[in-house]
Amino acid sequence: MSLLTTSGLTKRFGGLVAVNSVDLRIEENETLGVIGPNGSGKTTLFNLLSGFFPPTAGRIFFQGRDVTHLSPEERVKMGMVRTFQLVSVFNSLKVWENLVPCVAWHSGMYHSLWRFMTTPAANTWADSLEALKLVGLEGQAEAVAGELSYGDRRLLEIALALSLRPKLLLLDEPFSGLSDVEIAKVLALLKSLKGKITIGIIEHKISMIVDFVDRLCVMNEGRIICEGNPSEVLTNPLVNECYWGKQEILERAGVSGV
Ligand code: ADP
Ligand code: MG
Repeated sequence: MSLLTTSGLTKRFGGLVAVNSVDLRIEENETLGVIGPNGSGKTTLFNLLSGFFPPTAGRIFFQGRDVTHLSPEERVKMGMVRTFQLVSVFNSLKVWENLVPCVAWHSGMYHSLWRFMTTPAANTWADSLEALKLVGLEGQAEAVAGELSYGDRRLLEIALALSLRPKLLLLDEPFSGLSDVEIAKVLALLKSLKGKITIGIIEHKISMIVDFVDRLCVMNEGRIICEGNPSEVLTNPLVNECYWGKQEILERAGVSGV
């Protein structure tokens, strides 16, 4: 049984169909890449999966359970956790405090992932430090989060997601806005997680993830137009014709000599 499946998942915004009858599956401990041009519906798809938008039609199943109408918080409790295209951390709190929801709670703040929670999760300092060690930020535990580099804030956001013990981690463009050095750090972290938890990762630039993912889904105009292992997808004529054009897709994949 797949960890996650959707059937006929659709989201309309007025006349625009942002996600159009998507049948998606993600297998347990798989790393799935979701690629596609700007506006193709990738973020909307993750917003539907994580419960931030209700779908117009279709169903979402997680571990065989219909979660279509569950709140984001209920999905987080089941192990469905996401990060955001723009880094989402508590800039005014210390780094370690970011990972202890009750600190944020008592400071009158809430994270998007916690916003529907009635009782904050009881993470402790020890849990927080463990998560920081995992992402290599333990030396900056006492720093104010807003003073970290953008790349370190991305690592903190991933630590925050990991502290919620995800079974499925959905990452929306985790490399966007990062320098090459920062990208290498985040990629090394994600590689250390690969195979241990299930990962769904949106990325605009295929070359970033082509060697990292097990399978790729290509979205265009709200639909999945192609899926398969990365080499199949990169050579699929449908992708090349309907979408980027061969030259561009190969260049994006870092394939030289074409
Ligand atoms: P991607 O992440 O692939 O760049 P999005 O999922 O953000 O694409 O957007 C898909 C389409 O849905 C775009 O045309 C976008 O303008 C539209 N869209 C996304 N979110 C909203 C919203 N909250 N309200 C109206 N239109 C939206
Ligand atoms: Mg997006």
